[in-house]
Amino acid sequence: MPLFEPKFGGGFCAKATIKGVVVTFHLTPTGQKRLSDAGVQPDKKFPLALLADLARQGHAWTPPSIADKTDIAFAQQFDLNLAGDEAAERMFTACTDCASYDDLHLVAWQSAKRSRVAILCAGCRVALAERCALSVPLPLVSLESLSQLEAQGKLPAQSQLLLALRRSLANDLSAEWERFRQSENQRQRALRLELPGELKLG
Ligand SMILES: [Zn+2]
Repeated sequence: MPLFEPKFGGGFCAKATIKGVVVTFHLTPTGQKRLSDAGVQPDKKFPLALLADLARQGHAWTPPSIADKTDIAFAQQFDLNLAGDEAAERMFTACTDCASYDDLHLVAWQSAKRSRVAILCAGCRVALAERCALSVPLPLVSLESLSQLEAQGKLPAQSQLLLALRRSLANDLSAEWERFRQSENQRQRALRLELPGELKLG
């Protein structure tokens, strides 16, 4: 389960383990608000599926990574989901070439007169830098922007990758949020019952 924590310099981030890799997601103000509104407290854990939902909507994003050797120790210390929440892990988009989650862009280029498309991390984009016809940060990609780019002929038609991306963007995870909200409410009620003094009104 990811950890919702204050970020150095302000704002919040969420640290999660996805397929054994510790990934730090920065949160937009909307992402922070959605977590707070759902009852996630700072320095507390929450379901990985909720972070996957924020990531696919661009409210949780990964900056270029700074190698951090303490990450695995951190994950063990805070008991992040090292065992894995496999269904939620599969919801995160990764680099087509190296499976990294860092700083992903939707990239299109021409190769052997064919239009190609991939989702690439910063490292894997370097080799294509000269040939890129399009490079859009993944958090900015929506169903609407995909349709616009396709209509402008900037993306190849009938791409499996774009089909999968569309499916991911269209995925409705509102039931996951509701399930979490209800379990948080139950937990809060149970806590209040354990502390009867707090029930006294007036
Ligand atoms: Zn890569």
